[in-house]
Amino acid sequence: LAELQAVAKEMGMPGFAARQMMEWVYVRRVRSIDEMTNLSLKHREALSQQYEVGISDPVEGIHSKDGTIKYLFKIREGQFVEAVYIPDDNRATLCVSSQVGCKMHCAFCTTGRQGFSAHLTAGEILNQFYAIPESASLTNVVMMGMGEPLDNFDNSIQFLKLVSDENGLNIGLRHISLSTSGVVSGIKRLAEYNLPITLSISLHAPNDEIRNRTMPVNKKWNIDALLSACREYQKVTTRRISFEYALIEGINDSDACAKELVTRLKGIMCHVNLIPANPVKENTFKKPDRKAIIAFQKKLESLGLNATIRRTLGADIDASCGQLKKKTKEEIEGATIC
Ligand code: SAH
Ligand code: SF4
Repeated sequence: LAELQAVAKEMGMPGFAARQMMEWVYVRRVRSIDEMTNLSLKHREALSQQYEVGISDPVEGIHSKDGTIKYLFKIREGQFVEAVYIPDDNRATLCVSSQVGCKMHCAFCTTGRQGFSAHLTAGEILNQFYAIPESASLTNVVMMGMGEPLDNFDNSIQFLKLVSDENGLNIGLRHISLSTSGVVSGIKRLAEYNLPITLSISLHAPNDEIRNRTMPVNKKWNIDALLSACREYQKVTTRRISFEYALIEGINDSDACAKELVTRLKGIMCHVNLIPANPVKENTFKKPDRKAIIAFQKKLESLGLNATIRRTLGADIDASCGQLKKKTKEEIEGATIC
């Protein structure tokens, strides 16, 4: 609203025009400035010279048998991102992407293998929320799609402001999670905003030796640096932190790893989310069998660390964690459009 007030002022429009524009954009969801019929023709023309409004519809929606829907958005020629709609009993979550590709090159992740193409603007992130047919039913957002949100810091923050604005889409910040692979500079900056979102840290290893092997970001900011930033973050925000831990057979799933993890996380008010590693074409990582996954969880709990196992959703449509990837034009033309 404050930004639209500045626009109204710059255009010589009356003060109340900002609220009118906000309503046209976020409530009535117009696709052109011409449709804002309570603004004068002169002002609509002037606005159109400098601004655009609208919706970029998904080019494809693939339905999983578990209710999850993966939407594909075209950013520009040859550049696509995915967003995943995840309905549940009394809520509906959208997992949004923040970049086309990613620079972080995590060994277990399809997006990481694709390399980096572009940052999304705040508008392009918001559009994923705004443009899907289920938009009005969304209650939660997770910034856990393609890309590293803290490597696209300003646009991610702007997105959080827009999606949570009570005059706009009005998703409470407490219903939003942001996941990072461990960009310590970004965690420090985020702490300055002191937002009541949930910060998720993709930890995936209890020590630097394992983490260096699977997550190159650890060579820049090791686990000590990362966890010290988390402790500082928690001091400021007093929010519980969520640690993601993708269990990979033979790599990070031993009893010793569970014990080490508990020691590392001592003193941080947190929750561990165990993700059975999802298969991706590009590597040979496997998830442990169900018994081993439950044993790992029980070990953490017996040592006093709160841990849950994440359900795998959308696996049949490659929409689970680490399976999102930008599409080439050829792949899209060969795909079924629902
Ligand atoms: N780039 C951010 C946001 C993406 S969140 C981040 O990495 O945190 C996606 C989550 O899925 C991250 O926790 C990521 O580490 C995890 N992930 C990636 N590949 C995976 C795979 N093959 N199996 C399970 N989880 C995976
Ligand atoms: Fe990027 Fe996250 Fe995938 Fe790592 S897991 S490559 S940070 S999207």
